[in-house]
Amino acid sequence: MEIFEDDDEGYLRWLRLHPNGYVLNYKRPPEVNVLKLHHSTCGDITGTPHRGDLWTVAYGKACSDDRRGLERYARQLGGSALECGNCFR
Ligand SMILES: [Zn+2]
Repeated sequence: MEIFEDDDEGYLRWLRLHPNGYVLNYKRPPEVNVLKLHHSTCGDITGTPHRGDLWTVAYGKACSDDRRGLERYARQLGGSALECGNCFR
C-alpha cells in the first residue's frame, strides 16, 4: 500500500501505473465516516479535481492493488471502507 499526502504528482503517477488498483480516499485528518473506496479509474478521484483543488491536500489517498489491504487500513483508521456509488455498480 502507498499513501499519498501533499503529493499529487506521485498519486497521479500511481494511478497511471495501476489501472486495476484501488484507492481509499480519506479526509485529513481521517474521519471515520469519510473513507471511500474507489477503483483507480473512477472519475471522482482522477482527472482534474473539483473547484481547482489538489487531490492529496484536503484528502489523502491510500492506494493498493489489494482491496483487502485498503479495507484493513480503513479499520485501522477506526471506520470501514465504503464502496463508491459511481465506480462500484
Ligand atoms: Zn469511485
